[in-house]
Amino acid sequence: MNIYNLTYDELESYFLSIGEKKYRASQVFEWLYKKRVTSFSEMTNLGNKLISVLEKEFSFYIPTIVNSEHDKDVDKFLFKLQDGEHIESVLMHHDYGLSLCISSQVGCNMGCVFCESGKRKKVRNLEVYEMLLQIIEIERITKKRISHIVIMGIGEPFDNFDNLVKFITNCNDYRALEIGSRHITVSTCGIVPKIYEFSKLPYQVNLAISLHSAFDDKRSKIMPVNKAYPLKDVIDAVKDYYSVTGRRITFEYILLDGINNSVDDAKELCKLVKGLNCYINLIPYNEGSSMGFKRPKNDAIMKFYDIIKKEGINVTVRREFGSKISAACGQLRSKKEEE
Ligand code: SAH
Repeated sequence: MNIYNLTYDELESYFLSIGEKKYRASQVFEWLYKKRVTSFSEMTNLGNKLISVLEKEFSFYIPTIVNSEHDKDVDKFLFKLQDGEHIESVLMHHDYGLSLCISSQVGCNMGCVFCESGKRKKVRNLEVYEMLLQIIEIERITKKRISHIVIMGIGEPFDNFDNLVKFITNCNDYRALEIGSRHITVSTCGIVPKIYEFSKLPYQVNLAISLHSAFDDKRSKIMPVNKAYPLKDVIDAVKDYYSVTGRRITFEYILLDGINNSVDDAKELCKLVKGLNCYINLIPYNEGSSMGFKRPKNDAIMKFYDIIKKEGINVTVRREFGSKISAACGQLRSKKEEE
């Protein structure tokens, strides 16, 4: 088990279980998350005996960055994991700070037809440490502090729920990465039972749902998950989420030319979300992949935007990062596989 897989409470219980004092957890967390050492032997205040116990009990494996691409406002990193698998993270430079888009699985089973990540079926879930170390390693390399996290990289985070929750716990914990929960956003394709579970967590984390069509038949065609959890169930879960948390939800809507960007599509979308406390993020399709879809022209994007805006619904068009460097989901890893 990797040491970064443990939450503070779990580490405390571990130390109690081996007859050590609770405060050892605070010492170890300080070394891991504040001083950022890369081995147990550097944790000098633990004493040699405890260090060798920890060395036997836990792994300190750190995934390595094996490739990166850089553009003006975006950096993309390819990580190699212990078992040889690859995942990627995208660092976006905003005026409000640095936001890192992290992966949650190797491959993805959701099968969205436009998404490069799903070309490869899920191989496995990422462990907690593999998610946390995307942040820590990129901070180490760039020497910059990442202020925002979006879990929108490869994988479906709600299909790796338990690890996701521990990851968020350690992102948010003031003794660990200390990233404010309002600066963390989880994006799901709409796994309904997990939306209900997510709303019960004690965090103020943002939730985004990939909608991509307000018509059930069309959504099922581009997002097979809709067959299991159709729009009505998603909207019911969103209403429950709002009543439990009081937090506004984000709907992501990718714009695929000639597929889901007609006037009818826009009107149906307005009808679907009318009255919900939500925000629509229109995502012009990033064409840097071989999935065969097209990004609509700018005037078509603005036309779609205007229809929603006129209905008094909060809507923005997502700023496009990294289309030059294949920064959309799964594209860097795909390139690696083709080599
Ligand atoms: N599985 C989760 C999170 C990963 S995908 C989810 O579905 O939300 C994150 C977002 O990127 C989703 O909205 C997805 O539909 C979108 N996306 C995937 N490929 C894209 C591309 N080529 N261009 C723009 N957005 C893309």
